[in-house]
Amino acid sequence: MLNLPRKTLIRIKNLLQRQQREVEENIEKVEKDDPTKDIALAESSEPGTESWIAEGHAKAIAIANELKNAAGNIKLALSKIRQGKYGVCEKCGKNIEHQRLLIIPTTRYCMACSKIKHKQSLPSGDGKQSLPSNNGKQNSSANNLNHR
Ligand SMILES: [Zn+2]
Repeated sequence: MLNLPRKTLIRIKNLLQRQQREVEENIEKVEKDDPTKDIALAESSEPGTESWIAEGHAKAIAIANELKNAAGNIKLALSKIRQGKYGVCEKCGKNIEHQRLLIIPTTRYCMACSKIKHKQSLPSGDGKQSLPSNNGKQNSSANNLNHR
């Protein structure tokens, strides 16, 4: 049984949908950043490039997997909303605190149960990833002369 006010539920739904869009965009970005997708780079035979590609590839896959995991949680929450099952703790069956849902809309457990189940994967918000984003093209030192 759902005891969430309609307004709150709509707010959460919007939140989830926005998150879903963001995550999907990020997945696309990460997959584009994967150096193995860059043909020019993959074909270059410079020493050291290969390990750099392998490293970047592994990183891209790891980040993409994390994002896909997050996307799965968001999808699950959205489908629960559709089925009217949202906001109920999967462990004890009680209603999850509204404040908690607004902060972590993808949560599946109430405050008490999540404390017990400490090892749930935390939604990591750090998108630390700083691959150089040059497009392979370097402007051939066409420095503008600064006239005064
Ligand atoms: Zn619970």
